[in-house]
This record gives sequence, structure tokens and C-alpha cells, in this order.
Amino acid sequence: MNTWITTIDGPAGVGKSTAARMLAQRLKAVFLDTGATYRAVTLAAMRKKADLSDVQAVITVMKQTRFEFMHEGDVLKVIIDGQDCTQDIRDPRVTQNVRHIAAAPKLRTRLVKLQQAFASRFDKVVTEGRDQGTVVFPYAQFKFFLTADPAERARRRYEELKAAGKEVEFETLVEQIVQRDASDENRSVGPLKPAPDAVLIDTTAIDAQGVVQKMFTFIHEKQHGKGQK
Ligand code: C5P
Repeated sequence: MNTWITTIDGPAGVGKSTAARMLAQRLKAVFLDTGATYRAVTLAAMRKKADLSDVQAVITVMKQTRFEFMHEGDVLKVIIDGQDCTQDIRDPRVTQNVRHIAAAPKLRTRLVKLQQAFASRFDKVVTEGRDQGTVVFPYAQFKFFLTADPAERARRRYEELKAAGKEVEFETLVEQIVQRDASDENRSVGPLKPAPDAVLIDTTAIDAQGVVQKMFTFIHEKQHGKGQK
């Protein structure tokens, strides 16, 4: 693959999407939110009332559904069977159910291929998820892994959902984040873990701009040598 790729992995609510979107803008790259691909399959399967724990049933839904992931400005637009579902895939019920899809090796294999095919259409991509630096793009030019305290991650999700007009209890969010970490870290395929060559950034006390600045400086220095502008 000739695409120039930077991967950003890390747990839920760590600020990956915002940072990846901003970094992509700065690098004039396309932004790929791979969580959106897992969410899209989850939503399609929920709408078709498939049993999410039945891998074969979900594969059938995938075969019968037209998924389009479109790069529009700094947004990854998600179209399912011709309908714009960019917002719908963020529904907390989708978030709760996505683990069924994420934990199934056969489904992951299909989504990994889809993500690789998406990236191959562009010259430069910043991609974010859980397994981007380890499984999907092991040869990426730059790899980052973001971490942050679970309580801080829950606070960020809370603010996001509140801004979108969705009221959720803070304690429930902390619980969900801890559960999601456990299921992301413990699955047999594509678990959440840093690639050995990833740069780790703790974002607990840094805002998105600070995180992007760190990544940008790192990339710039590697490409142009320290001290150059
Ligand atoms: O990043 P986001 O919260 O949108 O991801 C939704 C879910 O999709 C995550 O909880 C995770 O289980 C799954 N996921 C994954 N691998 C990725 C991206 C997301 O398993 N590369």
C-alpha cells in the first residue's frame, strides 16, 4: 500500500477522534474513524433485528446491506442503504451493543479489509481505533497510543452527550467505560494494546490541541530533523 498512514489507537473517550480529525486537517490527510465502521454494522444488524451474538446472522446482514463511508471535509459520513446514519451510529444503544461485533474475529476480518480498502483510495490518511497500529496498518509511518484516566474519559463522554442533548448519568458512563475497556483489551483478535513502536501520550491533563501539537511536532521532527521549522 502506497498510502502514507498515521495511526492513533486508544480506549473509549480518550480523545482519539477529535485529535485524529485535527491532526488530519493539519497534515492535509483524510481522517478515518474505524469505530464508525463497527458502529455502522451494529446499527444495521439492530435495525434488521438480527441476533447480534450470531456471527452468521450478522454476516448475512452485512451482505444484504450497502455501507458507504464517505470522506466529507473532516467528517466520515456513514450511509447505510442510502440513508445518512452519521448521527444514529452514536446512539448509546449502539455503543452498548457494538462489543458483539468487535469481539467476533470473522466480522473483524471483514471490517479490517474494508478499512484497508478505504485508506488505499487516498495518499495520506490519519486513522483511529483500537488495532490500527497493530493489525490494520502495521507498516504505518507513525503510530500513537493515547491513554487517560477512566473518570476523565467518562467526563468527556458526558459533556459530548450533553452537548448532543442526551442525558446520561455520569456513574453509568464510568461503568460503561470500564466495561468497554475490559472487553476491548481482552478479546482474542485485534485487542486494544499499543504497537511496540507506538508513541504513548497520556491525555488526562492535556486538551485536544495540546495532544495534536505533540503528535505534529513528533512527526515534523522525524521528517525534517529536530530544530527545523
Ligand atoms: O471509537 P468508538 O467508541 O466509536 O468505537 C466503538 C467500538 O468499536 C469500540 O468500543 C470498540 O469495541 C470497537 N472498535 C474496535 N476496533 C476499532 C475501532 C472500534 O474494536 N479499530
